[in-house]
Amino acid sequence: MARFIFITGGVVSSLGKGLMAAALGALLQARGYRVRIRKFDPYLNVDPGTMSPTQHGEVYVTDDGAETDLDLGHYERFTGVASRQSDNITSGRIYFDILTKERRGDYLGGTVQVIPHVTDAIKAFARAETDDLDFVLCEIGGTVGDIEGLPFLEAIRQMGNELGPEGALFIHTTLVPFIAAAGELKTKPTQHSVAQLRGIGIQPQILVCRSEHELPESDRAKIALFCNVRKEAVVPALDADSIYAVPLQYHAAGLDSEVLRAFGITDAPAPDLSRWEDIVERLRTPEGTVHIGVVGKYTGLKDAYKSLTEALVHGGIANRVDVKLRWIDAEDFERGDVAAMLEPCHGILVPGGFGERGSEGKIAAVKFAREHRVPFFGICLGMQMACVESARNTAGLEGASTTEFGPTPHPIVGLLTEWEAGGKRHMRDETSDKGGTMRLGAYPAKLAGNSLSAAAYGATEISERHRHRYEVNIAYRAQLEAGGLVFTGLSPDGELPEIVERPDHPWFVGTQFHPELKSKPFAPHPLFRSFIAAALRQSRLV
Ligand code: GLN
Repeated sequence: MARFIFITGGVVSSLGKGLMAAALGALLQARGYRVRIRKFDPYLNVDPGTMSPTQHGEVYVTDDGAETDLDLGHYERFTGVASRQSDNITSGRIYFDILTKERRGDYLGGTVQVIPHVTDAIKAFARAETDDLDFVLCEIGGTVGDIEGLPFLEAIRQMGNELGPEGALFIHTTLVPFIAAAGELKTKPTQHSVAQLRGIGIQPQILVCRSEHELPESDRAKIALFCNVRKEAVVPALDADSIYAVPLQYHAAGLDSEVLRAFGITDAPAPDLSRWEDIVERLRTPEGTVHIGVVGKYTGLKDAYKSLTEALVHGGIANRVDVKLRWIDAEDFERGDVAAMLEPCHGILVPGGFGERGSEGKIAAVKFAREHRVPFFGICLGMQMACVESARNTAGLEGASTTEFGPTPHPIVGLLTEWEAGGKRHMRDETSDKGGTMRLGAYPAKLAGNSLSAAAYGATEISERHRHRYEVNIAYRAQLEAGGLVFTGLSPDGELPEIVERPDHPWFVGTQFHPELKSKPFAPHPLFRSFIAAALRQSRLV
């Protein structure tokens, strides 16, 4: 039976709890165990699909079409285990399901309550589809003390009781701040946070203490004494130079050994960490630098493009180069000098996005890349803008645009109203709900054998993840191809353009899907590997 590791956070948010879960998952996997990592989000949104990327960061999409928290991206990047719908739950989803049942009369007149109905739903979620696993890591979003997190803490407390110490483990992540005026690290916030957790019946066995300074042995001993844990179970966690150094750092700090010890596992194989050593070595000793300009709308919060940023880093790992990103707000472009901002870039990327704001800036960036023969990568809205640019400037279709921005004489991109997925016919129109109504998740595509993308993938049949409402209009294929933009990837029925390329350009690729979601540091995505290789060639030209 799977063992459960529950991860909570205290003192402040943004402690890297998700990264810790991902790194611990990777360490257990390096010892040959089968792991899965799950995220419990206490907020009331049904899923993060409708949340603003500037507030909440990117929406991570799984193969099975779930719109999930960006931490699931970390989990997948660190373990290689494809995340599923069943790996992310929110309070909103739980209440939605319970209230639907209540309206149907499923509770037969009974009172519906947080305990047991909500807590039972949380426990059922944690336990679902875990038979073939050795460890299930469950990260509880938010910070201990948040009102909306209480049902989750109560549920995992109950599971701790039901499973016993050989079946459940609690890890609490805290902050040990450095107070400059006193010249000291302070353990009190950690003590308070653990006291609060113990007040609701959870005694963590392991404390992960994030701090900017080395944790002295005396502080470790003090935290252990006041928080009722072994001194060795107070695991110091200093900031790392790269997130991919975190597994090795936690291993050196003894995290995985403490986890095994807490479960009473004495015969664990030694971990094979060569994968992580190789990645860190490549990151720390690059043989060159490339500059990539990312022209987007949500450049204020880097988390809005988390998977994209990481996929570019992975492209750098594959090519042994340091990838430096220049974030360019597409709206600045509409005012400023495009050339001055883009000239220093060895590659230009226009990422996904929604809405008209900044779109003319994105189109200007595509035009610059096309005319100056700078490697160009357009993703989702980025591909749509590349098609609009070609329509306007190489196919003579004046006023060409996407119907997402309003009526246009040449709807190069239009709303998809009907399509097939999972043996089901999907329908929608302009008035459909916003939540969960996009083309979501993995869809297959067929690539032209002589295309750049087929060469990059080394395959002509691929499957990639989608998240969009609008599609490039196949009716314009002949006109766009006459202007040099070739449709090299299509849905199997030939109706939906998946990849466009410019064979007359050094590297010009647009994808309707989001390749960044499947990239991993130990398996960089073929298109990102190829894009960074092209940027490297460009850097040698200029
Ligand atoms: N807004 C576009 C659409 O819905 C693109 C979405 C995206 O880039 N993810 O089709």
